[in-house]
Amino acid sequence: MPQAQISNNLAAILRELPDGVKLVAVSKFRPPEALLEAYAAGQRRFGESRADELAAKAAAMPADVEWHFIGHLQTNKVRSVVAHANIIQSIDSERLLRVVSAEAARAGRTIGIMLQVHVAAEETKTGFAPEEVEAMARLARTLPGIKTLGVMGMATNTDSAARIQADFRVIAACGVLVRDIIPDATELSMGMSGDWPYAINAGATIVRIGTSIFGQR
Ligand SMILES: *Cc1c(COP(=O)(O)O)cnc(C)c1O
Repeated sequence: MPQAQISNNLAAILRELPDGVKLVAVSKFRPPEALLEAYAAGQRRFGESRADELAAKAAAMPADVEWHFIGHLQTNKVRSVVAHANIIQSIDSERLLRVVSAEAARAGRTIGIMLQVHVAAEETKTGFAPEEVEAMARLARTLPGIKTLGVMGMATNTDSAARIQADFRVIAACGVLVRDIIPDATELSMGMSGDWPYAINAGATIVRIGTSIFGQR
């Protein structure tokens, strides 16, 4: 994609986003020049889904970038991700939650985390069932090295607006459960290129957009 296009795309999305909703530019699989173009246009939040790619890009980009890890994370990669990410949105198992906490505490830092909720029809997507979310929030509240910011989720990949809206309502309801236990955990990360206006209507505070900024992967 011609680079001026990236800043035009960003501007078009930011015009539509309500005040206070944060945009994570999902830069996975994009070359560094694409990230730098977005950075030059003022974008500071970037989303990556692989530990090695995050480490390489964090080393190449200015220090004031806020890095969000949004991919499935294996526990043997946690140390690297904890070293580079500001926020891990994709906490999808109790074991991962405990390992992230232990690694962050060991590194002497606090990392933002979000509990990923699985509602989409696709079995390939990971996360906690809505029934598990409350217990995970109770556990997260007790663990060192982490600050629970809220929940993250994905809607089913479908043309059915009704299904997408229903999925986002379930994720938002999980967010309410978490807030009852951890009042500061007010973030609701949902909405991607194809469905983010629905996510905004359902109360999203963070949207994660790749394709509409950087073009087709
Ligand atoms: C890739 C990805 C996105 C961005 O998807 P686009 O359709 O390119 O906007 C958002 N969230 C997660 C978890 C992703 O893996």
